[in-house]
Amino acid sequence: MTLIDGKALSNKIQQEIEEEVNKLKQEGIIPGLAVILVGNDPASHTYVNMKEKACERVGFYSIVHKMPETISQEEIIETIKMMNNNSRIDGILVQLPLPKHIDTNKILEVIDPAKDVDGFHPYNMGRVVEGLDSFAPCTPIGVMEMFKEYNINLQGKDICVVGASNIVGKPMAALLVNANATVTITHIYTKDLASHTKKADIIIVGAGKPNLITADMVKEGAIVIDIGINRLSDGRLVGDVDFENVSKKCSFITPVPGGVGPMTIAMLLKNTLTAAKKRRNK
Ligand code: NAD
Repeated sequence: MTLIDGKALSNKIQQEIEEEVNKLKQEGIIPGLAVILVGNDPASHTYVNMKEKACERVGFYSIVHKMPETISQEEIIETIKMMNNNSRIDGILVQLPLPKHIDTNKILEVIDPAKDVDGFHPYNMGRVVEGLDSFAPCTPIGVMEMFKEYNINLQGKDICVVGASNIVGKPMAALLVNANATVTITHIYTKDLASHTKKADIIIVGAGKPNLITADMVKEGAIVIDIGINRLSDGRLVGDVDFENVSKKCSFITPVPGGVGPMTIAMLLKNTLTAAKKRRNK
């Protein structure tokens, strides 16, 4: 069994980004990321802190717009429009989830697609599905980078994606189809999840349910990618996979923490760097 080391790969990518930023700085270019954070969700605050620190590490300019839970939709939209027009900003990210009174789709659609470094705008989603050059959501492209790094060929593979959200499962499935894999997407209404996972050469799970994938659901030699992040009542951070038992059957598996999570951050930085270069025709 090979452990896929997302942390090491993320560090390597961040080092490459830092080197590129140093070169851009000599031309007076500093990539900039704006983050919009609404409310007091502790997990969202942790993620935004991590993103801010990562920006600092690679030499980006970054600003965080912290807004109270009670903010109106119009005020968020106005801030995004300001960032769309701000020449120091190359990437705009709205930390999800937003409070219930805010229409998330309306907010995401206001972001200039050229600054949509999270890849959630329908314009970029459509281009991802068509396999065109675009900003794709950071977590799925982070998983694709892992496959590349570990020389895992996807062509013709049976892949079961567990979870079908707009930010994880659906774009993940689109990227895999474009890499010529045979993809099954499963979700909460799937009748018999195990019947799908057992057939899969590769299982990619992002459901947010600890121990959803157990050893009896996994075929011998399978590759398992665990996107889930769950905080248990004892404070431990775990994924969606029963790592201890599933790992014994796998050829490759990602740990939680230290797997997909750090890759998501690296891909956010990479998308922001790409946005900065594209805006200046580099
Ligand atoms: P979500 O709640 O929007 O979607 C969850 C999906 O899982 C849904 O499609 C749902 O139908 C499916 N699902 C839920 N329970 C299921 C079950 N019992 N069987 C089959 N499918 C089931 O969540 P999300 O935003 O897509 O996030 C999913 C998980 O991934 C969460 O744990 C989240 O914290 C994690 N996540 C991690 C990263 C990362 O960087 N590693 C990034 C984004 C999300």
